[in-house]
Amino acid sequence: MCSGEDPAIHRHRIGTPPGPLLAELPAAESRRPTLAWTDAGAADEIGWHSAIGYSSLSVRTFIGLGGNLGEPAVVFRTAVAELRGVGQVVKVSSLYDSAPRDAFDQPHFLNAALELETDLSPVDLLLELKRLELALGRDPHGRRWGPRVLDLDILSFDGLCVTDPEHDLIVPHPRFHERRFALEPVAELDPLLLPWRNCSDLRVDVSVADLLPTVANQEVMRVGGPDWADPVSPSGLS
Ligand code: ADP
Ligand code: MG
Repeated sequence: MCSGEDPAIHRHRIGTPPGPLLAELPAAESRRPTLAWTDAGAADEIGWHSAIGYSSLSVRTFIGLGGNLGEPAVVFRTAVAELRGVGQVVKVSSLYDSAPRDAFDQPHFLNAALELETDLSPVDLLLELKRLELALGRDPHGRRWGPRVLDLDILSFDGLCVTDPEHDLIVPHPRFHERRFALEPVAELDPLLLPWRNCSDLRVDVSVADLLPTVANQEVMRVGGPDWADPVSPSGLS
């Protein structure tokens, strides 16, 4: 480490090229669900919106990435490569180091966020994220809020609110508003984003930038730029 640099920058070995993780996964395109998520019946059933004429449109979602085991930056890059098979990765945020919040006896986390355009339903997107978490090494029996290789959260889904107990899904993510490590990377991508825009919710007009001052006391530090997701050349140099 160079003298004068913050140790957080080196904690996560940012910039290491991806290992063989990607090669072990089936091609993302072959897993793509064929049903459009805005099937009118399903949408009406849980009351997202009137689905008429909407089914082929992609929606704008924001996904949070986190991890504190192994080499999260490497795993993040592999996750992005995979997510390109389930939608369009429009933008990725910088990398952030964050102190553990809900369980303290564990290493700091690396966090980021990305904007994904997808035509998957919220539930199908959740299933895809869970599948990716497991494929990239998350322990399915790991303790809640404990150390993990990869956490992928649907932070915001087209300003919609979804509560689906059957699939254990709440959108926007139920703790998004209180986590600086989730809000700050999303604010970098779109500070004016209104995550509750299409909801009957008191926060309908609240942007991610509005929420940042409420979490300013949490320990989060930017440790790398948004180039972490770039493809790596055979020489291992970005
Ligand atoms: P957290 O994401 O709060 O750090 P976990 O990753 O341990 O905590 O929580 C995992 C559970 O949260 C999963 O069973 C998943 O079904 C559920 N969950 C509910 N809403 C969401 C969401 N919006 N995004 C991701 N997971 C969610
Ligand atoms: Mg999660």
